[in-house]
Amino acid sequence: MSHSVATQNWGRTNIRERAIDAFSREGFAKAVKDAASRDAHFLPYGNGRTYGDSCHNDDGLLLDSRGQNRILDLDLIHGWVRAESGLLLIDLLSRLSRSGWFVPVVPGTKFVTLGGMIGNDIHGKNHFHDGSIGNHVRKLALLRSDGEEVICSRDENADLFAATIGGMGLTGYILWAELDLMKAPSHLIMEEKVSFQSLDEILALTDEAERSNQYSVAWIDSLASGAKLGRGILITGNHASREQSQDADPRYGKPIVSVPLTPPVALVAGLPLRAFNEAYFWANGRKSGIHLAQPDSFFFPLDAVGAWNRLYGPYGLHQHQCALPLEAAPDAIRTMLEISQKAHQGSFLTVLKRFGEVPSPGLLSFPVPGYTLTLDFANKGAKTLELLGALDRIVLDAGGRVNPYKDSRMSAEVFRAGFANWRELEALRDPAMMSDFWRRVSQ
Ligand SMILES: Cc1cc2nc3c(=O)[nH]c(=O)nc-3n(C[C@H](O)[C@H](O)[C@H](O)COP(=O)(O)OP(=O)(O)OC[C@H]3O[C@@H](n4cnc5c(N)ncnc54)[C@H](O)[C@@H]3O)c2cc1C
Repeated sequence: MSHSVATQNWGRTNIRERAIDAFSREGFAKAVKDAASRDAHFLPYGNGRTYGDSCHNDDGLLLDSRGQNRILDLDLIHGWVRAESGLLLIDLLSRLSRSGWFVPVVPGTKFVTLGGMIGNDIHGKNHFHDGSIGNHVRKLALLRSDGEEVICSRDENADLFAATIGGMGLTGYILWAELDLMKAPSHLIMEEKVSFQSLDEILALTDEAERSNQYSVAWIDSLASGAKLGRGILITGNHASREQSQDADPRYGKPIVSVPLTPPVALVAGLPLRAFNEAYFWANGRKSGIHLAQPDSFFFPLDAVGAWNRLYGPYGLHQHQCALPLEAAPDAIRTMLEISQKAHQGSFLTVLKRFGEVPSPGLLSFPVPGYTLTLDFANKGAKTLELLGALDRIVLDAGGRVNPYKDSRMSAEVFRAGFANWRELEALRDPAMMSDFWRRVSQ
């Protein structure tokens, strides 16, 4: 039975009551039949960790996958798992914690579902090494609104397979998926943090960091300017060996504290933002040497604080993530940092990663070889939208693209310029599926 719940996108730019229904095959078939006469649409929903509006469908119903979360098969000899799409990453990682296997690509939060990870073809801190999650999907079962269950892989219904990976829920409902796992003697990480003093320095450091590490990510102090523009902390790591981990148990915890209320103003702008950036740079810049880190602190540091997105105040945040080709990236990144500063809208969390050459099987997968810069801005209305529009133009001029699943405001022109093949997804879209994002950019 569908009911209305105030659902949010992670950016909290648009919180309102939305119709949502726990997914069941019977319920879905009935809802499709009832909706046919009203031209209503559906959208699969995972755990709502998408920043933008591609996980919402305000003119229809969300199909909540979280009740369908069983591990159906797990082969710890050859390293693969088959699970229902509502399985949370935290539960899969906990199940694998001492198995010698790891999930080959994880995002910056463990509170995502398997279906959501595939729907957005998520990438991690190891894209240059292992590609995106789509590179590790063996097959999946897709339920279409005509009632057909389609098994898709690179060899079977390959067009639907490609369209579903990064297809943002538009090709149908993923019932289950089979994923290759990655050998890892321990889930604990041998981590190193090193400070760098400028953008040029981090760009020069990246090659070397990637040669000797499986994971690499740079935090940038978005407020540092002049000769210090782009200074920050490079965080790298490899899975620990059994000896290095001293056989310690990996811990996958729930948040230690939670933000209970939304403050009336953003607490992560202005002076607090400057103080945070200074403190983070100096606290992490001290050479700590290579040390053992829990997976939670290495992969999912933000998960330690529940509902941290409330810190952005009542109007939420806009995340702007772009993918830039290698050669054009340095100038574009420099200009993006400069214009954010000139607009007096420093980004709270600014992250720079490298995208590697491993092509995803996904039709609309976001990564392209080069760099990806992620900026988080407190939403200050028209002023922020103007800045985001200017950032979009820099990205397109550099031959790059803006991430659709982090966005809730890009124009159809910006989207289409970055994803020239979008009509191929439209052609394979399940006619009953629609999202707010797709309505905005495809019609
Ligand atoms: C703190 C934080 C850090 C993050 N770090 C990263 C990162 O490093 N890299 C990255 O790529 N992303 C990152 N993200 C974004 C996040 O990983 C993705 O948005 C992820 O896809 C969300 O998964 P979800 O289960 O919450 O799905 P939702 O947000 O609910 O849905 C995601 C998409 O998948 C579709 N979908 C969900 N379930 C199904 C299903 N059963 N069948 C078909 N389609 C389905 C939905 O329709 C929607 O389009 C981060 C988000 C947060 C909050």
